[in-house]
Amino acid sequence: MPIPLNEIFGPTIQGEGSDIGKPTMFIRTFGCDFDCTWCDTKYAVDLSSGTFYNAKETYILEELNSAGCNRVVISGGNPLLHDLDLLITLLKENDYEVHIETQGSIYKDYLKKVDKINISPKGPSAGDSVTTWDMLKEFLQDLEEIPKDIKIVVFTEADYDYAISIYNMLKEKLGMEFGDKNEFILQIGTDIDSKNPSEQILRELCTFIETVTYYGDFGDDVRILPQLHTLIWNTERGY
Ligand code: SF4
Repeated sequence: MPIPLNEIFGPTIQGEGSDIGKPTMFIRTFGCDFDCTWCDTKYAVDLSSGTFYNAKETYILEELNSAGCNRVVISGGNPLLHDLDLLITLLKENDYEVHIETQGSIYKDYLKKVDKINISPKGPSAGDSVTTWDMLKEFLQDLEEIPKDIKIVVFTEADYDYAISIYNMLKEKLGMEFGDKNEFILQIGTDIDSKNPSEQILRELCTFIETVTYYGDFGDDVRILPQLHTLIWNTERGY
């Protein structure tokens, strides 16, 4: 079944999470079940900001094959809105390393076929679109074997408290361990209206690192990372 896509781009680098800096192709699906106040990919979420085209799985595979990079991240929007079973099967048959990025609101069985799931639960500053613990617990319940990045973007103190609560629940209720198969990542939020987002990130990252390491709420488990692509290319699309 054709998949609504916003764009296919790369090779570039993965700018976030535990694969930061690695060569990567991106498939960006169109549409999202959330409406985060600070969404930086509105062009992949609603038609007033962006567009989509329907692409067959075989077309997507041909596009990727011509790029010559074997790591692919399926991002959005929320890719889990769509039936990606055939696409992921084809990619795996063709030896691609397949990652998928989502906020953790919708579960699909095809998640069990991917190599890594990058989950970015949305905290209070996202507005009405929050990934609740119940949502996340349900999303994760059958995915124990799949390596995961849990990445929380922190804009406010309420987001920081949300990150602590999610971290503690993951450890206490699901027995998740971090540092080997799974990673717990904090990232400071980027003001999408900022004229110079890289300057803002570097200015705030310093204080953020001091705060997180001083309070020790995440023990030694946490990785604190910037968005590397924003530091390099600001909010330019296609990277
Ligand atoms: S979940 Fe992601 S893509 Fe969807 S609105 Fe929020 S930030 Fe944008």
